[in-house]
Formats: sequence, structure tokens, C-alpha cells
Amino acid sequence: MIREQMSVIQIFKHAGCGQQSCRTLKRFIMLAIALMLVACQPATDEGASAPEIANSGVFTADIVRADNSGWRSHGRTYSEQRHSPLSEISSKTVSDLGLEWSFDLGTSRGIETTPIVHNGIMYVTSTWNIVHALDARTGAKLWSFDPKVDKAQAGKGCCDVVNRGVAIWGQSVFTATIDGRLISLNSKTGEVNWDINTIDKTKPYTITGAPRVVDGKVIIGNGGAELGVRGYITAYSAESGDLLWRFYTVPGNPADGFENKTMEMAAKTWTGQYWQAGGGGTAWDSMAYDPELDLLYVGVGNGSPWNHGIRSPEGGDNLFLSSIVALRASTGEYVWHYQTTPAETWDYTATQHMILAELEIDGKSRKVIMQAPKNGFFYVLDRETGEFISAKNFVTVTWASHIDEDTGRPVENKFARYYGGNKPNIQLPGPLGAHNWHPMSYSPDTGLVYIPAQEAPWVYGEDSEYRYTQGAWNTGTDFTLGMLPSQKAIFAALKASLKGRLIAWDPVEQAPAWTFEHNGPWNGGVLSTSGGLVFQGTADAHFAAYDATNGERLWRFFTQTGIVAAPITYELDGEQFVAVASGWGGSYALVTGGVLPTGSVANVGRVMVFKLGASNALPPLPKTDVTVPAVPESLEVSDDVLAMGVKAYANRCSICHGDQAYSSGLIPNLRYSPITKSRQAWQQIVRGGALEDRGMPNFETILDEETVEAIRAYVISEANSDRGAEFYQSFQ
Ligand code: CA
Repeated sequence: MIREQMSVIQIFKHAGCGQQSCRTLKRFIMLAIALMLVACQPATDEGASAPEIANSGVFTADIVRADNSGWRSHGRTYSEQRHSPLSEISSKTVSDLGLEWSFDLGTSRGIETTPIVHNGIMYVTSTWNIVHALDARTGAKLWSFDPKVDKAQAGKGCCDVVNRGVAIWGQSVFTATIDGRLISLNSKTGEVNWDINTIDKTKPYTITGAPRVVDGKVIIGNGGAELGVRGYITAYSAESGDLLWRFYTVPGNPADGFENKTMEMAAKTWTGQYWQAGGGGTAWDSMAYDPELDLLYVGVGNGSPWNHGIRSPEGGDNLFLSSIVALRASTGEYVWHYQTTPAETWDYTATQHMILAELEIDGKSRKVIMQAPKNGFFYVLDRETGEFISAKNFVTVTWASHIDEDTGRPVENKFARYYGGNKPNIQLPGPLGAHNWHPMSYSPDTGLVYIPAQEAPWVYGEDSEYRYTQGAWNTGTDFTLGMLPSQKAIFAALKASLKGRLIAWDPVEQAPAWTFEHNGPWNGGVLSTSGGLVFQGTADAHFAAYDATNGERLWRFFTQTGIVAAPITYELDGEQFVAVASGWGGSYALVTGGVLPTGSVANVGRVMVFKLGASNALPPLPKTDVTVPAVPESLEVSDDVLAMGVKAYANRCSICHGDQAYSSGLIPNLRYSPITKSRQAWQQIVRGGALEDRGMPNFETILDEETVEAIRAYVISEANSDRGAEFYQSFQ
């Protein structure tokens, strides 16, 4: 079947016909393939005491056609609209929606997985890349696979040990791991077909994204631009795991020779010794694919280091940072790009979700690609050519006034760049973005894009002592700003201005149709349906349905734990199911320690599946100890030592353990860790790698003994501050 179908697809790739006739031929062939597959597939919607396990594989036509019995690709189809035509659960019936089953993932870390459903089986990923195959009707576990990842490598990740899900193709399930592997599993048994390494293990690459599969090619990128890597995306044969093509997103050292003309072109937009910290540009999340155009769209991330003044000191746009790049999917060749943030310097990635749709603009039907990247502007581009159509800010933005319609470039505010003599400034958006990886959805019924948006400002300022440090964060920005005890007023102002909202955005008018204000930022991804509903989980531990036309909240369910993942829906035995995973986590949850969402209890990673008429309950809430632990007395150290501790903590530790040593509880709260009492134990963990197998990096080559001791003094001083009690009160 694989070969038959691939050969059919080759026909229109090499037919040499004119573009229009090719399209007609392609449509005809796609339809023929779809009909063949319908005829071949068992009737999965009938009988079904035990699910049919992957008797029929998944191929391009299944993902394009997207029948309602499954959710077969990360964004449902290659267009990544995350909109389902299912309508049994509707604005009229949703009040009868209840929990059908739940499955505990056995983790208290962040869960970002989008479940994949095919032939009555649901495939989800958990912490440390464990894959579970579940009966989509009952939640019964069919198999689990633990790739036994190298947790020391995982400690080099920027943003929690998360994963966004698997891909399926043929009879296989593909999962990409935090330690850089791509693994093919037998979809029926979970046995390994092949397991390959995709990264240079001497560099801090990690993978958190979900692979996509296009015409038998498994496509995966990676992350690591905070620490210093060179981004790329690779296609591997689904059958063998052989490397088919690789596209670098930024140029390497010219002395090594350029891989292709595109890299030679891109290098002209860089200056200085930009390759030393890798340049960045990691493609760590979003992809979309247009099978008619054979274009694969890749969202590209921020620079390494962030600070453009250090990275490319004589200026330059630094292609393809913060860009959408269109590649020929069959070959990996560059076709076009659009750069959302030229000369990126604020961690304004363009790795955010991209959606393909047909929109009526100025009386013409346009094939568009849409994105709401971190920088706060919503973009509509022509996806055949990359031509800029329109852009407008979807939240408050202070770094740029608008996007120039003639050039498609942002008009920056003068104070936004924090180097070259400019002072630090508080800016919107911050590095967590106006919209991060959390998927949006597009409803062809309403014509609206539903964006999980946020306002999370940050103080940007140059790290005047920056030098590249292998294995550490290399941003060239000073994380102590707004975090120093002397600047608690600024810090409080920052936290008070945090906002999260669901925005229904009209992409033609470039204006909101409605907004729903949440309790705070970092809420879940979005699903829309032809039942006139929008589903979204929230940081404050609820899963809710909104009226797609006016934003009225019609239904919600207390999930015990905050949600960041996106929901999906599928139909089996004539009944519609909606699934979502709880498990608050990721960069925001780690770095803004202590801002545990209201109403949430300690994290429980869990898949929850809902249907009409069901009324099951979640397992009882876990007990949370709200006793404030005793902390050691502050160490007697000089102000200079304490200042050294603050700076080192902010730049090396806060990314995971929370600013001001104020962890949100996903990983150990250092304020109350008994380890702080012992200089020796503290040193053994931080500089001796004693907890490397649990994901705590070894800082031996990054921090000296004296600095590590200063960090201990700082952490204990914070534990003795008034914010301790405040933290524990938030649980009560
Ligand atoms: Ca980043």
C-alpha cells in the first residue's frame, strides 16, 4: 500500500503538466486514493468490543480527508486548523457533557501532548517521552513504551521535559525524544521498529515537538536556541529511518563552506562571528503542509544568543530567525520565507502554530497561511508566494507601533532594543510571548481564529558581562532585572499586569470578534467544532466550552490541575468524544515560580475524555501539605556575596526553579529544600551532578564553588523573606 500510494503521488510531482492541470489531476488522484482507502478500511464505528488495532494504516489521503473517527495528525489535517466538523456536542447539548474516562499519566510535570486517534486507539505522550496507547472508547491501556531517555541531556532543555505528541503513518507511531532521538514503533504492539539519533550530542539540542509525516517522510526539528545551537529540520524515511533531507535554518561558519545557495544568501544578513553560539533559529514546534503546492511550512525560532547586538554586532536581519520558511516537502529545498521579526533580539520566535485556510480578501479567494507569533502581531500571508497580506497586533504590544503594509516589516519603537547604549525597559510581549506554542484553531464556519493569547511583560536589558559559556543559557540579556530584591516594586508591577485571554480573531478584518478574559496567562490550546463551540483548558484547572460566535462560556469542568495542552475530538460508535490532557507546566510555569494558578492543586498529568450523558468523577484530589516548613537561618555573608548569588541564580537557576527561588512546585522548591542546610550536599548536587539522572544539570564547568555557595546564601535569604508564607497561602 505504501509503495502503491507513493507511486501515485509521484505521478503528479513529475508529470510536467501545467500548474492548473496538475492541480486538477492531483485532486482527482487524492479523491481516488480516499475512495480506495474508504473501501479498504474495516467499519471501525460498528461492533467494537475491542478496538481494531491499526489494521488499516494512515497515509496522506487519510490526513487530508480526515474522517471524524480519528485525529490523525497533530493539527488534525495538514492545514492544522484544529477544527472538527463534528456537531453532536453543540451549543444546545453541551450542558449534558460529562467525564467518560480518565487515564493518569503518572507524572506531576507539564503535559503538552495532542492525542492522536486512529482505529479506536489513542496515542499520547507523557513526561520523559513515555508513549501510551489507550482504547479511545474506555481509556484501557493497550501498551506503553518508555524510551529511557538520557535525563542528563534533558536537563539542558529550556522549558520543562515536555512533549507535544506522536505522529502516525502506515502501521507505525513516531515519537521524538527530549534527548534527540526519533523512534518508530509498531502501532499495534509498541515494539521498536527503529530508533535513531537526530542531533549532535555534544550540543544542547533537545526535542519537545511532535513529528509530522508527509509522503512517507517523518519530519522533525529541535530546540536549544537559549543555550546556543544551530537550528535545522530533517526528513527521515518512515520505513527505514534513513535521512532524506536536512534544511538548516541559519548559516554556519562560512569557513566550513555553505550547504547550499540558500545558506549563502542567508549568511549575507549576518555579521561578526555569528556562528560561535550556533546562531539559533531552532524549529521546535510548528509545521503545516499544503499537498497541492508540495510546500512544507516551518516556523523558525529565536537567535542564539538572544541579544542581536552581541550575535550580529554590525547589524543584519539574520535570516531565517523568527521566520516562516516554505520548503519543497519532497526535497527540503527553500522556496520562500517571511521574517516576522527582523534582527530578532527578544526571543520572539515564529515557531508558533501556523494555519492554512482559504480566505476571501478584497473580493478574491486567497490561499493563506496565518500565524500569531510571540511578537504579538497576527499575520496573514499568501502561502503560495509568501507575499505579505496583512498584520495587526492582537494584544497590547510596546516593541513596535505597527507593521508597515508596503514592506511587511515592523516599525520598531526606539527604546525596544536594549543594547548599544539603550537602557533596560519593560516591554510587551516578553520572551514568553503574546502567544506561545499552545495551538490556536480556525473555524471555517465562523471565519474566526481562536487564539490562546496572553500579556506577560518582561524587563529586557543587556548582560554587560556576557561571554559564551558552553552548556549554559547564552542569551546576552540580564535576567536579574526586575528580579533583584531592591526592585521588588517593578517585580510586583510585572506580576500584576499578567493577563491571559481567549481571543476570537477575524483574520480578514484583522480585529477581535470577541474576547474572554482568563484569570492569568499560560492557558491551554484550542479546538473548535461545527457544533458552534470552542474548547479550551485553563491554567486555573478548568476545561470549558465557549459559544464560537460570541464567547459566552456555556460549560466547564473542574480538572483539579491546570491545562496547557490542546483538546481534540473524534467520533466512535456514533458518539462524539472530546479529549484533553491536564498537567500544567512549561517555561512560564517554571520561571514565574509561585504564580500557581488559583484553584489548582498539585499537578496530576492526566488524559480526560468527555461525552454527552457521561457523569464519571476524577479520582479524589491528592492531599497537599500546607505546613510552612522550617528554613535555615540566613547565612552571614556580605552584600557583595549576596549580590553574586542573586545574579548567578537569576541567570542560571531561575529558568527552572522560579524567579526569587519561588518554584511553582513542578520541581523542587529550593526555599524549602533541606539540601540548603548542607554546603556539602548543595555542592554535590550543583557541581557534582548527584541528581543528573533526575534531570538536574551538573554546573561544574559553568559555576565555581564560591558562586554556588553564594547562590545557597541567596536562596536561604529568600526562604526567610515574607514571600514564603504567601506561597503556601495560595494552596489554602
Ligand atoms: Ca526561545
